[in-house]
Formats: sequence, C-alpha cells, structure tokens
Amino acid sequence: MVPRVLAYFGWQLMHAALPLGAERVPFPLSGSDRLALYLEDTSCSAAACFSERGLPSSLETYTHAFVTCPTLAPAWAWARARWQALASEQPPLDARALVAGDHTAWAPADRSLWPLWAVLRLSVLRAIWVLRCARRAPGGPQFTAAAVVASAACSIAHFIRTDWLRARVADGTPLAHIDSSDAATRPALTRAEFIARWCRRSALAHVRADGTLVISVRHGGAAAFVAAAPADGIVPMDTED
Ligand SMILES: [Zn+2]
Repeated sequence: MVPRVLAYFGWQLMHAALPLGAERVPFPLSGSDRLALYLEDTSCSAAACFSERGLPSSLETYTHAFVTCPTLAPAWAWARARWQALASEQPPLDARALVAGDHTAWAPADRSLWPLWAVLRLSVLRAIWVLRCARRAPGGPQFTAAAVVASAACSIAHFIRTDWLRARVADGTPLAHIDSSDAATRPALTRAEFIARWCRRSALAHVRADGTLVISVRHGGAAAFVAAAPADGIVPMDTED
C-alpha cells in the first residue's frame, strides 16, 4: 500500500542516495581557510543553523537534515501526534527509525500498521527534502515546519483520495466517471479494504454513515475535505484546500 513515489524515496534514503551537504566534505581537510571554503556547501542552510556571526554551524547529515534540524521540530511533533492518535504509541525522534526505516530501532507494535507508518514518515521526509532543495537553490526561500506539515498532509490526502477513487471503481462507479488515470489503472480496492487502510480511529480520514469520505489529515484532525459517496455521483474532489 505504500505509494510507489514514497517507496522509491524510502529506498533512496535507506541507501543514502541523496546528495546532502555532508557528502561534499573534502578529504583530507587542511587549514581553516579550506574548511571555510566548504562551509556553505556542506552545512545546513536553515536560518536557525547559522551562528551569531552569520556562519553555517551544522553539518548537513541525514540525521540533521531530516530529524534534528531545529526548524523541523514542530513537523515531527505533528507526525508523532498523528501516530499517537492513530495507534496510541509515539515513535521516537530517532533517525534510524524515522529516516532509515530501521525496524530494529522502532516500529509500530501492530505489524499490520507498518505500511501506514511508512506512508506518514516518508510523506514528512519527502516534504522536507523538496523544501530543503528549494532552499538551497540560489536565493531559495527558508521554510517553516508548518510548510512541511502542509505539504506532507497534502500528499497523504492525495494518496487517500486516489484509493477512494479505486474503491469507487470497485463499488461499480463507471470508469468513464472517474477522472483519475492513476485510480483507473490500478487494481480496485473494496470499501472495506479502504476503511481498514486509511480510517483507523479517524486519525487521517473516515467514511460517514451517509457514505461520504472525510479527509482530516490536512489540519490535524479538523474536517477539511469531503468527497462524494458513490451513490451521489461525481463531485469535484479538489474544491477544498
Ligand atoms: Zn539545520
């Protein structure tokens, strides 16, 4: 159930295949002048990670860029709170578990939740990566944890919506009425499978008694997005952001 785009990104993380600053540390380093030369290239570009003298002060390692950079703390707090609501357990702020997906460091107690946990953590990580790359571009903007959360939640909502369309295909809605090629080309999902996958404790989404879908992940629990039930015909799915 982990969307391919996230599975691929997870694979890149697991194999340290992303070009982070720490990779550019020259070896051997000799003299403070050379170090200064490489400081900007190899360091985290978050404003919070510059010294009082305006110099970058944190080597951009995987652990720093994805977990311990001070800019990110509220984003991980959000993700861990989502997981707490969903599974009554709180993932540790441990890069082995969060970035590498190392199940020996931490994993959900309920093994059936491992894919959903992967969707949540990889959505956050991918949002961080995209925003970090934009920030490193010449004149690139700083970003906040709120932007990470908004982007990650938007991705998760997209995955939920795609599966909802697949469930509608399974429920008999004519394919001609489904406007997502993604949904149309993947095997259909039953309503029960959709609910089992996405609606645990309504932490990310739930299906109302009248058959409409409510995606709540975008705003941390508030009803933010409602999609039509199959019987209601087709309603534009992207009217609320
Ligand atoms: Zn930083």
